[in-house]
Amino acid sequence: MSDQNFDIVVLGGGSAGYAVALRAVQLGKTVAIVEKDKLGGTCLHRGCVPTKATLHSAEIADEAREAAKYGVNVEFQGIDAEKVKAFREGIVATKFKGIQGLISAKGVTVFAGEGKLTGPKTIQVGDDTLQAGNIVLATGSYSKSLPGLDIEGRVITSEQALMMDWTPKRAIVLGGGVIGVEFASLWRSFGAEVTIIEGLPHLVPNEEEVVSKGLERAFKKRGISFKLGARFAGVEQSDQGVKVSTEDGNTYEADLLLVAVGRGPVTSDIGLEDVGVELDSGFVTVNDRLETSVPGIYAVGDIVPGLQLAHRGYQQGIFVAEEIAGQSPRIVEDVNIPKITYCEPQVASVGLSEVAAKEQHGEDAIEAYEFNLAGNAKSSILGTSGFAKMVRVKDGPIVGVHMLGARVGELIGEAQLIVNWDAYPEDVAQLVHAHPTQNEILGEAAMKLAGQPLHAI
Ligand SMILES: Cc1cc2nc3c(=O)[nH]c(=O)nc-3n(C[C@H](O)[C@H](O)[C@H](O)COP(=O)(O)OP(=O)(O)OC[C@H]3O[C@@H](n4cnc5c(N)ncnc54)[C@H](O)[C@@H]3O)c2cc1C
Repeated sequence: MSDQNFDIVVLGGGSAGYAVALRAVQLGKTVAIVEKDKLGGTCLHRGCVPTKATLHSAEIADEAREAAKYGVNVEFQGIDAEKVKAFREGIVATKFKGIQGLISAKGVTVFAGEGKLTGPKTIQVGDDTLQAGNIVLATGSYSKSLPGLDIEGRVITSEQALMMDWTPKRAIVLGGGVIGVEFASLWRSFGAEVTIIEGLPHLVPNEEEVVSKGLERAFKKRGISFKLGARFAGVEQSDQGVKVSTEDGNTYEADLLLVAVGRGPVTSDIGLEDVGVELDSGFVTVNDRLETSVPGIYAVGDIVPGLQLAHRGYQQGIFVAEEIAGQSPRIVEDVNIPKITYCEPQVASVGLSEVAAKEQHGEDAIEAYEFNLAGNAKSSILGTSGFAKMVRVKDGPIVGVHMLGARVGELIGEAQLIVNWDAYPEDVAQLVHAHPTQNEILGEAAMKLAGQPLHAI
């Protein structure tokens, strides 16, 4: 049993929690992280990193199938699911080692175990009582299901999907959001027949409608089936597979059902209510400085309502460390955080949609342009189609960029700089994009909106 004091104690060592710790030690604070599982959290062990590693295997499978088209004679012989698993686990293991080393080298103290808030400045973990100047809650999220839909056997979430060392021949994905379409995409690349069941009218419903429709066309072409506006009614499972029914009376059979209906906050039974931390539908309520209803207790990452993304967690973690250190950091609104969906083709966006921009600035104040990837040499070389849509305020800055196409995720870095730096199309149009790159589509769209198109019509 021990009593220890730190300037900051962080509950949860995922992306958001460890970012608080790393920035706070740079600012001279003493910091402890309490982690019940593994440093790195969902993103590293069950989220971003293993899914993107698997999607890379999927991309190679697609390229192997298409290789002859490019004059390369390769015979695609199939997927070795055990090796795919070993590849992704190898990447995760290296990154895990890296983050453990970094946290230890920076002098952050890690307490292994389940922590509980026992007072506005106290966290209990096992026999250790940690006294903190400030506490930061960063307990993350879990895969949700629907009422009555138990996760067991052949009914799985992304967690179980990432542990699989076999590839389904037929898969049903419940939910056409980011996680659902990423798994649908990679299983299709691995040769499975995939059906997505989505209750809303579109896939990736949080994106611009034109992006959703473009993705739907691309998925159709790839042979990925989807039922939109279809509500799940029930599932039966046997040793052989699952039979899913929807409220419209249809049934679908497959080897497994992946439930990808969103992620809920991990906030129960950790003492929050006892200490007076206010919650809203389980998420921690915070002000715009990320402070909870209890002064001195902050919250970061997936438990804070809004986008559930690792880099939002990093940004919030850095923000809170600087806020506690009295540095008055700048707030980055959720709308200006870049989002990527790593299916094939990829979806990437930042800023306001055209509709939201019109609501905010007025119908006549907004101008938008879609540059088609058909006019971009590098995209033709890659054999991809899609577009970059840029939204500007007339005589004002670019407020949104929305893209669809292979590898467009890599372009979001420039797009987020443009939007967050309030760049005008006229600013971007003067600058040079290397040729031939997909990057040029941002320059082309900006040139068009600045009234000086090069290849745009
Ligand atoms: C399949 C999948 C793919 C994803 N892909 C991407 C992507 O490509 N890009 C992206 O930006 N985001 C992606 N995400 C989302 C991303 O993983 C999360 O936004 C991010 O992990 C949130 O970080 P966090 O620190 O808030 O929570 P978490 O990473 O969940 O970390 C919370 C940590 O707190 C610990 N903890 C919880 N309760 C306690 C307690 N009482 N005591 C001690 N420790 C505790 C947990 O063990 C965990 O390690 C993906 C998520 C999933 C599921």
